[in-house]
Amino acid sequence: MDYPYHSRKTTLLSLANELLLLLRDNLEPDDLLAHACYYLLHPRTRACYAAYDNDPRFWTSLLFESGLAASCCEADPSGVVWRRMAIECAEHAWECKHSACGIQRLEENRARLQRARELRDPELWDGCSPLDTTDADKVAIRIQQNPLFEWIDFNSAFPPVHLPDRMRSILIGACAFLRETLDDNSGWLPTDLIGLHPVACRSFATFPPINILAIREDLLNRGKDLIVTNIHGATVLDALTALSTILEVEMDADDIDALVDFEIWPEYEYNDWESDSEPGPFPWGWPLKHAAWTARRVGNLFQLAQWTGFNFDIVTDEVIAFVDFKSKPLPESAWSHTVEYTYPKTEFAAANALDGFQDL
Ligand SMILES: [Zn+2]
Ligand SMILES: [Zn+2]
Repeated sequence: MDYPYHSRKTTLLSLANELLLLLRDNLEPDDLLAHACYYLLHPRTRACYAAYDNDPRFWTSLLFESGLAASCCEADPSGVVWRRMAIECAEHAWECKHSACGIQRLEENRARLQRARELRDPELWDGCSPLDTTDADKVAIRIQQNPLFEWIDFNSAFPPVHLPDRMRSILIGACAFLRETLDDNSGWLPTDLIGLHPVACRSFATFPPINILAIREDLLNRGKDLIVTNIHGATVLDALTALSTILEVEMDADDIDALVDFEIWPEYEYNDWESDSEPGPFPWGWPLKHAAWTARRVGNLFQLAQWTGFNFDIVTDEVIAFVDFKSKPLPESAWSHTVEYTYPKTEFAAANALDGFQDL
């Protein structure tokens, strides 16, 4: 007797379509990397996902479970677009070795999301969609930033202010960069630019993820908030795009007075500052009114002190994100420091070797 199924070696791809679909359904519904693997394996396993091209929910929730979403500039992506995002993030995670990105980021996002779910009041947050922070009942929920922000720094290619969000979201990807280690203040490499790290860009800005992120813009004395609205959950790239509306702004005398009035930066020599006042995050050794000659733009403040991300607080029933800084080791001068951030490390080192930059 002939037993064709016994005499032939059975491989995954000799299975009937029904069985391939069954295998797909047995992968964990929150395991982005497993589904991406299965999708990329073979045209027949790929075909198992065809139905989701017309229904964005599958890929959207797979990304959500890894703490990832479309950015607010991507409007309302179709199923196909969400699928491309998911595959792009999985492929990037496999190859990116950066401590702030890659598989480590996916794992940390998942852990943070899980933690937020454990702490939640199910009446206030369902745990599988962004928290609606415009609902006054919900503002009491504790919101924490993605610790990824602590890794982000800015070079001097601040995007022009008067551009549509969509263009600024691209340009900020060539301005913000990931530091190599948390205490690294030594400039950047072209491969560190955050636009090349889709996992970092798409990570939720907060846990739980929120639909509206209001950033209090108190570096400039203009008293308005930078608002990000993303029904899929505000992302790191969304927050950076919102900040990019102020980085290129040149500080005027009122802004500088405000920094001094709020004791963010001392006005004169540090030694005539009252001795009981705490040193702030900005270089205490250089009075602002001297540094302001070289650090004229708001973005330069992000280079002179270490941006650590956002602190969340409730102000009259609204969740507000406050920009937070800590001090860096004092650079040689405001000028040398901002120049150091203008060029990538490689060019800077090469130019220094030729003795070019010193004489600039
Ligand atoms: Zn990366
Ligand atoms: Zn420096």
